[in-house]
Amino acid sequence: MDDEKIHDVIIVGGGPAGLSAGIYAMRAALDTVLIEKGAYGGQVSTTKEVENYPGFKEIGGFELCEKFLEHAQAYDIETVQREVTGTEPGVSHHTVVLDDGSRLHAHALILAAGGTSKKLNIAGEEENFGKGVSYCATCDGFFFRNKEVAVIGGGDTALEDALYLAKITSKVTLIHRRDEFRGSRILQQRVFNEKNIEIKFNTVATAINSDASGVTGLSLKNTQTEDTHDIGVEGVFIFVGFSPNSQIVPAGIKCNTTGYVITDEKCETSIPGVFAAGDLRQKYANQIVLAAADGCTSALAAAHYIETCKAAGISDKEGQ
Ligand code: NAP
Repeated sequence: MDDEKIHDVIIVGGGPAGLSAGIYAMRAALDTVLIEKGAYGGQVSTTKEVENYPGFKEIGGFELCEKFLEHAQAYDIETVQREVTGTEPGVSHHTVVLDDGSRLHAHALILAAGGTSKKLNIAGEEENFGKGVSYCATCDGFFFRNKEVAVIGGGDTALEDALYLAKITSKVTLIHRRDEFRGSRILQQRVFNEKNIEIKFNTVATAINSDASGVTGLSLKNTQTEDTHDIGVEGVFIFVGFSPNSQIVPAGIKCNTTGYVITDEKCETSIPGVFAAGDLRQKYANQIVLAAADGCTSALAAAHYIETCKAAGISDKEGQ
């Protein structure tokens, strides 16, 4: 099915960047369609507590996402619940291809598809996913009540989720490949003060061990001494960063070596009328407030771009 209508803007992704872009686009009276393949809110919806979004000293990630969605829906934004399989830039308009083969067109695209948790790619990881291996403590922590678990990683996510798991499980072994954490000082302090967390610095996991019922332990190696040993755990939570979902980014758009889209200060990519916002875009830090800010910037810039295009008469199928 090919929808012949040319919308003003199509937003790909319903996380903080996409929903924020939706709010600004609707307020700018743009004919807007927002496409999301799964749950609205993206990664934030699986975060237990958010403590750094201005105006909310402490709010559940899911609750914050619900507020973003309600806000966007208050402007009657058109939403499509499907997966985007590709995007095709054009001259008069751009096209988005959906997983059912249908195609939607718009003068401007805002790509806000976020990112996905990185894998360690060690033995036992893939086959034990859902059987003890997890990338989401708030989703799966409950299954490990009063059991021993390991957390791998040293960034904010690993520290925050180790603290969360320390309250539910009988013991958390926090494994980090270096001798200092990357995560924020305040989270580090909380981790150091938590009696239920044992920290293993300069240590990497080389295999996740299991039997028929699931994960039974981890094989570890000290990066300084090369010593190896096994520990017994029933759950392994892996938080080693994430990769941008750049598979929807059309060829021809400039990306950095790790797949993040390079934009100018208006969030515009190397293709006119195609914008990138949130975790997909190369920037200093990935934070909810920055994703929301990108949503605002990209929608305002898209509105200006569309106005300029219409003034120049580039709107061949408009209004059909
Ligand atoms: P991150 O900051 O990129 O940290 C990834 C961690 O995993 C690093 O400690 C890294 O070690 C380690 N790592 C990477 N690859 C590894 C491998 N192959 N084997 C072992 N360890 C590996 O990712 P994140 O923690 O998911 O955070 C992502 C972004 O979200 C950050 O900007 C973070 O500040 C933000 N965030 C903020 C909050 C909050 O403010 N409440 C909560 C969560 C996330 P090295 O340190 O040695 O590189």
